[in-house]
Amino acid sequence: MHPFTYHQAESTADAVRALASPVAAPLGGGTDLLVLMKEDLVRPATLVDLRRIPGARDIALHDDGSARIGCVVRLEELASHAGIAERYAALAQAAAAVGTPQLRTMGTMGGNLAQRPRCWYFRGGLPCFKNGATDCLAETGETHYHALFTNGTCHAVHPSDPLVALTALEATVEVTGAGGVRTLTLAALFEGSARRAEGETTLAAGEFISAVLLPPSAAGGVQFYEKLMQRGAWDFATVSLAAHRGADGTVRMALGGVLLGPCRVNPSVEEDVTTGGLDDDSIDALAERAMHDAKPLEHNGYKVWQAQALLRRAMRRLDPP
Ligand SMILES: Cc1cc2nc3c(=O)[nH]c(=O)nc-3n(C[C@H](O)[C@H](O)[C@H](O)COP(=O)(O)OP(=O)(O)OC[C@H]3O[C@@H](n4cnc5c(N)ncnc54)[C@H](O)[C@@H]3O)c2cc1C
Repeated sequence: MHPFTYHQAESTADAVRALASPVAAPLGGGTDLLVLMKEDLVRPATLVDLRRIPGARDIALHDDGSARIGCVVRLEELASHAGIAERYAALAQAAAAVGTPQLRTMGTMGGNLAQRPRCWYFRGGLPCFKNGATDCLAETGETHYHALFTNGTCHAVHPSDPLVALTALEATVEVTGAGGVRTLTLAALFEGSARRAEGETTLAAGEFISAVLLPPSAAGGVQFYEKLMQRGAWDFATVSLAAHRGADGTVRMALGGVLLGPCRVNPSVEEDVTTGGLDDDSIDALAERAMHDAKPLEHNGYKVWQAQALLRRAMRRLDPP
């Protein structure tokens, strides 16, 4: 492993100062970053540990239904927090679906969103786009776990379960850096994720995700997260889905395992599910319409069927006969 120094940030200002160095990287639980460093895929010279920043581990539930989740809240805390489970069941279920108890105990909210893709070409250190080459090796390679939709050269998918729930709940992220604090939609955070080799987010040098923000509309209603895996546990999603019918009846759905970032279902499909009164034929037609623009690679056509199956199941749960 390349040598590095460790800095424990004592405050937000201290973290911002330490992250101003171009060779510094934020550290959450280290469950992804340290593995990447051991495999020599990234070489930060300083790790800035965010876990001691006062308030960064807080979950604040507000009276209007909104919430603020600090960047180093552990995934296990999200999964087992009674208030999160009651208000944002899809998020609690997605956090509980992450890997193993050890990973959930160490892994943090911010680190889970900023983790790098699990593509075997990238992780294997092969000359792929994310490792600095020109092309994506998945275009003509082994594509069983790759994307159905792409926004650039890379065909990897984003590995996070919580990201899918947060997308359906229309969460935003609070980002902190030397320029102050700003709020980004998830779409803006991951804009161009497949066109950028060095990372997936639009965070500027020195910025970090300081919190995840849930709007009042995310609370309650009918909401859930479902994850399909090759084996029953300890695995990433082949395809997953989060769905939410809000208190005002509005439906939002998002898919995981199909894009290198947040993937909201086609808004025209969400609108029809919001209207309701769906019979089996219209549910089949909507599931097909939702996946109309999918571009399967050689070995991942099965993901289209998985996504349609999850969509059909979700529509029946959201709009019971
Ligand atoms: C065997 C295995 C199975 C897994 N299964 C799943 C799964 O089923 N579902 C799933 O969602 N994940 C899964 N994971 C991934 C795991 O959840 C992530 O490793 C973890 O969530 C990352 O969180 P962390 O706090 O440890 O991040 P770290 O390893 O500390 O950081 C990860 C990356 O994010 C950056 N970073 C950290 N914090 C911030 C911040 N606040 N702002 C900006 N950047 C930041 C770091 O610099 C680094 O680049 C699995 C991992 C393994 C090893």
